[in-house]
Amino acid sequence: MKFDELGLNESLIEAIDYMGFQKATPIQQQAIPKILNDKDLIACAQTGTGKTAAFILPIIHRLMKDGNAGINTVVIVPTRELAIQIDQQIQGFTYFSNLESIAVYGGGDGDDWDEQRKALDRGADIVVATPGKFIAHLNMGYMKLEAVRHVILDEADRMLDIGFYDDILRIFSYLPKKRQTLLFSATMPKKIRDLSNEILTDPDEITIAISKPAEGVLQAVYLSYDPLKVKLIKRLIDDKPNYKSILVFSSTKREVNDIVRALKNKEFKVEGISSDLEQREREEVLMRFKSRETRVLVATDVLSRGIDIKDINLVINYNVPGDAEDYVHRIGRTARAETTGVAITLVNEEDMYKLLRIERLMEREVMKLPVPPEIGESPEWNPNAGSKKNFRGKGGRGGKGGGRSGGKSRGGKPKR
Ligand code: ADP
Ligand code: MG
Repeated sequence: MKFDELGLNESLIEAIDYMGFQKATPIQQQAIPKILNDKDLIACAQTGTGKTAAFILPIIHRLMKDGNAGINTVVIVPTRELAIQIDQQIQGFTYFSNLESIAVYGGGDGDDWDEQRKALDRGADIVVATPGKFIAHLNMGYMKLEAVRHVILDEADRMLDIGFYDDILRIFSYLPKKRQTLLFSATMPKKIRDLSNEILTDPDEITIAISKPAEGVLQAVYLSYDPLKVKLIKRLIDDKPNYKSILVFSSTKREVNDIVRALKNKEFKVEGISSDLEQREREEVLMRFKSRETRVLVATDVLSRGIDIKDINLVINYNVPGDAEDYVHRIGRTARAETTGVAITLVNEEDMYKLLRIERLMEREVMKLPVPPEIGESPEWNPNAGSKKNFRGKGGRGGKGGGRSGGKSRGGKPKR
C-alpha cells in the first residue's frame, strides 16, 4: 500500500518520498488509519518493522492540517540514542513544514540542557524525551502541558525492563486527561497490560507476527562449550573478510568486556557497548559502528534494542537469550529491508533447552553445527538433559500459536 492511499497530507507524502519510503509497512498500514481516527492504541510488532513512522506520520498529518500552538505531542522513549533517532526521523518528515521537534535526554552538557529548556519553554510541537530528563525539566516549572493532545510510549517493554514504571505514571499525572495515548512495544508481557490499563482508554489493538524473524535471515547454531566460544567467534569473523559490520550480543557487561579484550587486534576495530559507558561515549561508539569505522561491536541487549543500524552482515549471540522473543529481536538486527543476513548463536549444554523453546516459538528448526574439530569438541544436541525442570517451568509454545504471542511465552527474565 502506498502512503497516499492512507489519506496523508500532500507535503507530508512528499517528505516521505524524500526519505525513500515507497510502501507502507504492515504496522504502518494498520496503525495510521486507527490513529487518524483518534483512537487510543496498543501496537505490538517486532523491531525493524517501521513503528516510528507508524505513530508519528498520522500525528504530523494532524499538526500540518490543524496548526498548533504549544507542546502538542510527547513521545517517551527508553534511551537517549532512541530519542535522537526518532527526533531525526521527525525532522525528515516535517522538512516541508514549520513544525518543531526537540529531543530531550540526559548525559549531555550545559549547552544541550539550555537548548532543550528554550525549546520546551517556547512550546516545540513534538517533544521526544527520556523519562528522567522529562521529569527534570518538568520540575523546573517552565513546561506547559495544557496543549498536549497526543502521548506516545515507544519501546514500552524496554522502559519497564529498565524500571521506568513509576516515572511514566508520574509523567502521566501531569498530562491532560483528554488526549490520545499510543503504546508501542516489541513484546506484550503482562506488565505492559497493567500499564496500559492505567493510561489508555478503550484502546484498539494491533499485533503483527511478533515471533517470526524477518525473512532472509540465515540462522545457524554452534554447539559449543563456553571456553571455546571466543576462539570460535574469532574464527567466524576471520572466515568472513567481506562482512564489514558484525554485532555480537552477550548477556552481561563482564562478558562484553571479556569478548572485546579477546578480539582486539591490529587489522580492525572492535568496541564494546554496555551501561558502563557514559551516554556520550555510547553514542560515539554507535556512530563509529554505523559509519563502519568499527567492524565488530559487542553489546548487551538492553542497550541495543530499537537502535536502527542498517546492513549488519552478521549477528553472533554469545549465549542464548533467556527470553525467546529477545532472540527474535536480536537476529532482527540483520537482514533488514529485504537484504540477507546471517545470525549465529553459540549454545552450551545448559542453554539447549532455551534454544528448543525458541524453535517452538518460531515454529522453525535452526541448523545445528559442531565447532570445527581443530578448535575442539562439541557437546551433543540434547535439549532435555538436565534442564527438564527449567524447561517445563518456563513453558515453550506449541504449534498452534499461529505466530502470535502474548505475554504467556515469556519466561523469567534475567537481570542484566
Ligand atoms: P521499529 O521501531 O519497528 O524497530 P523503525 O521505525 O526504527 O522500526 O524502522 C526501521 C527502519 O526501517 C528505519 O531505518 C526506517 O527508516 C525504515 N523504514 C520504516 N518504514 C519504512 C517504509 N515504509 N519504507 C522503507 N523503509 C522504512
Ligand atoms: Mg522503534
